Amino acid sequence: MNYFKFNETLEKYSALAERKAAERFKMIDSITEYNQTKVLNAFIKNRVSEMHLGTSTGYGYGDIGRDTLDQVFADCMGAEDAIVRHSFASGTHTLTVALFGILRPGDKVLVLTGRPYDTIIGVFGFEGHVSGSLADFGVEYHQVELLPDSTPDLNAIRSELSWGNYKMAYIQRSRGYSLRPSLTIDKIEELCNAVREVSPNTVIMVDNCYGEFVETREPTEVGADIIAGSLIKNAGGGIAPTGGYIAGKAEYVEMCAGRMTAPGVGREVGASLGHNRELYMGLFAAPHVTGEALKTAVFASALLESVGYKVSPTCDEKRGDIIQSVILNTPEALIAFCRGMQSGAPVDSFVRPEPSPMPGYDDDVIMAAGAFTLGSSIELSADAPLRAPYAAWMQGGLNYHSAKTGVLLAVQSMIDQGALKI
Ligand SMILES: *Cc1c(COP(=O)(O)O)cnc(C)c1O
Repeated sequence: MNYFKFNETLEKYSALAERKAAERFKMIDSITEYNQTKVLNAFIKNRVSEMHLGTSTGYGYGDIGRDTLDQVFADCMGAEDAIVRHSFASGTHTLTVALFGILRPGDKVLVLTGRPYDTIIGVFGFEGHVSGSLADFGVEYHQVELLPDSTPDLNAIRSELSWGNYKMAYIQRSRGYSLRPSLTIDKIEELCNAVREVSPNTVIMVDNCYGEFVETREPTEVGADIIAGSLIKNAGGGIAPTGGYIAGKAEYVEMCAGRMTAPGVGREVGASLGHNRELYMGLFAAPHVTGEALKTAVFASALLESVGYKVSPTCDEKRGDIIQSVILNTPEALIAFCRGMQSGAPVDSFVRPEPSPMPGYDDDVIMAAGAFTLGSSIELSADAPLRAPYAAWMQGGLNYHSAKTGVLLAVQSMIDQGALKI
């Protein structure tokens, strides 16, 4: 029984794409296996038991499940310490807490990786006044542009840091919704070494969103002092319903904890409200689910390239995050792609995405997302501003088999709408 019907030529391209991706799939499997043992070991080492899966209310004093999860998570990131909380509202909120936790008025930050992710721009507050931004609190912002090939400019970074007296160097691992490549861990290590060489006291912070478990090491294992990310991306394994984490050197995590709740109170409070179990389960699933999302991205890359689209990264390129961009060239193709992908979602498959205005964007945006967790981008999803070159950024896939069907439906939809001939 074929539950889904695809164009015969598309079926052939699909088989071809899987063959082309086979080597990458093997590499992804071995990363997954390594990271899964890393996570399992952290659970065992910290003697996670049924009592940790319980709940607390009110102030949450002595919530042993919450406190143990912090240590398990730290071990998974190869970090000294971590705070993991459902009460972080988003990745942006988590990164904000880390930035405000460490920086003080008069401090200077240098961003090493060009213009940061959209929502972080308001946090720094360097593009026009934002009330309560770091700029508003007297933190000075500087940025080193990427080179023409979209890689970090190590020479400019070294020279800026050698005289600039910077409190923090900030690195964004993921490409976010830009067309630059994500940073590999080797590249992050190179950046960390460059910072240490010329400015040993500068705190190195990494926005680790979309990067967790993509490689066998995390930024905290190659020189980063502090990292932060969202739990509705890789690190929540598709099970965490919301939340974020901060991990790194104990002294900096402690500073962040003071900003997270109240100075002097820090991590001692914060009721887990029954979320401990989901956060543990999510972390346990995270290496595997990240592997499935990576396979989905590699498959989509191979398939869409073979039917004639420009893709980034290509199927055999090394990846530092789970994002796949596809340049679809026309608005018709882009809209058909998103509608097709939506039609293969386990939730809201019958919804028809429409391009519409979004706060913070000049162009209309179209999104395909049919997820168990609202806004989750570890579940298969795609979004795109309606502007040339009509690129879609897709990510996620809780399991490869279902997400592969979603990708095939997206391509079938372009064929059905006459936007693609194969
Ligand atoms: C997702 C993401 C964030 C945080 O975004 P939220 O939507 O607030 O979770 C920050 N930086 C990058 C690179 C991201 O991908």
